[in-house]
Amino acid sequence: MSELGPHALVPLRPEVIRLEEGRGKLLGGRCRSCGAWHFPPPEVCARCHGAEVEVAPLSGRGVVYTYTVVHQSTPEFRTPYVLVYVDFPEGVRVLGQLVRCPAESVRIGMPVEVVFEEVGEDAEGRKVVGWRFQPASPAREGSG
Ligand SMILES: [Zn+2]
Repeated sequence: MSELGPHALVPLRPEVIRLEEGRGKLLGGRCRSCGAWHFPPPEVCARCHGAEVEVAPLSGRGVVYTYTVVHQSTPEFRTPYVLVYVDFPEGVRVLGQLVRCPAESVRIGMPVEVVFEEVGEDAEGRKVVGWRFQPASPAREGSG
């Protein structure tokens, strides 16, 4: 589901989304001094205050730490939808919308994977791409 096609695409948040070869990657920051990961990538490591933080892709799979079902929102969001906090194996926690999963099926500890989808258009009519989560597909276990 990471295939985005050959259209003109712009990331919703360029500091944490890399789009290349028709695929998206969610980016974190890894400290060169202590190895800690952060999301989004910081200027300075929050653990050791080291200034050498390299931007690198996260694994893209994690487990649901907690979730909520949103029933009232601003007009651009169709309700109800599920928001999840996802714990990545790198040690970061990322908030996002859960898709392709009915609200009653969400469970804490559920494996999920990042997907990239159009979330709107910018002023030039280019498609804006953001990240979401969906239940992890067992067939792709370990293949990234
Ligand atoms: Zn550090």
